[in-house]
Amino acid sequence: MRIPFVNLQAQLDRLKPELLAQLERVIDSRDFIQGRFASEFERAFARLHGVPHVIGCANGTSALALAMRALGIGPGDEVITVAHTFIATAEAICEVGAKPVFVDIDPRTYLLDPARLDAAMTPRTRAVIPVHLYGNVCDMEPILDACRPRGVKVIEDCAQAHLATYRGRAVGSFGEIGAFSFYPGKNLGALGDAGCLVTGDESLATRLRKLRDHGRLSKYEHDIVGYNERLDGIQAAVLLLKLAHLPEWTEARRRNAARYREHLTAMGVKTLAPTPGASPVWHLFVAEFDRRDEVASRLQAKGIGTGVHYPIPLHRQPALRELGYREGDFPATESASRRVLSLPMCAELTEAQVDEVCRELREILS
Ligand SMILES: *Cc1c(COP(=O)(O)O)cnc(C)c1O
Repeated sequence: MRIPFVNLQAQLDRLKPELLAQLERVIDSRDFIQGRFASEFERAFARLHGVPHVIGCANGTSALALAMRALGIGPGDEVITVAHTFIATAEAICEVGAKPVFVDIDPRTYLLDPARLDAAMTPRTRAVIPVHLYGNVCDMEPILDACRPRGVKVIEDCAQAHLATYRGRAVGSFGEIGAFSFYPGKNLGALGDAGCLVTGDESLATRLRKLRDHGRLSKYEHDIVGYNERLDGIQAAVLLLKLAHLPEWTEARRRNAARYREHLTAMGVKTLAPTPGASPVWHLFVAEFDRRDEVASRLQAKGIGTGVHYPIPLHRQPALRELGYREGDFPATESASRRVLSLPMCAELTEAQVDEVCRELREILS
């Protein structure tokens, strides 16, 4: 049996008639930029996430950059995050002219280790970006405790964690701002690029709305110099349709993850430990292997797709060499980058497929 890493095609095949009808509605309305579908999506996403303000935007990277701009972060400022993430997290920090400062991860959760924050703070630290990687949730209480007394802002990177909760509350609602991506492969994906921001602060919401749309007060009156980072009507209409399925898709991911964990724990394979108090949404299901690349190619030979998230930590990326980090600076991050393998995971993955992947793994490891 062939088991793709992510079976986006199965989801699209099933939704195609509804998607086409939805596209027709957008064409008939000519609401191509922001407009009624975007507003409706923003309201629906706000309800589902239990946050007061949602601001649609162009993609997840622009969401992170807009968040920093709204908080007045720029040249001369430092923003703390992890090196074990997709490059967009650091790219957005560079884009606003600030400097990324990395801290190591907790090897159990693969997420920002709150115990490392104090030592990384300087008088220039303006924000921390905890990344809820793999759909697990960062330990927000100690992170907020480290930031709040110093006036350091918290921007949550929620690109992989739609609907994930910590102590019963959805991600994005803990910091000043949460940034989401709707890249097609994410737990909630558009038919192209899209993103959004969430915040509980009304004045930040107003500022974010202006920044994403040319600093507009009205059609040709501009209050501040802004950007063109708006949400497409077509993408909003697609997201609105898919959003209704997100809770059931999330439950399917959770069932698959529970089954993987049961099999792999019995085999003595280390898998991600959810943060205490968190209810992860398993954007990716990672397991650790001594000979990771060999395991991946042997699975590939059996028709089972895998991925590595991420093979080169950001402090070792050529693009960020000027930050001056060296091999050995972040041992837990470096170990994870050599050892993690993402197994097939999506809502369409069946229990029988999870069993099949684990059967092949058992054979490879024996
Ligand atoms: C996908 C992703 C982003 C960027 O989102 P885009 O919509 O692709 O710009 C940022 N951070 C993380 C952790 C991501 O996985």
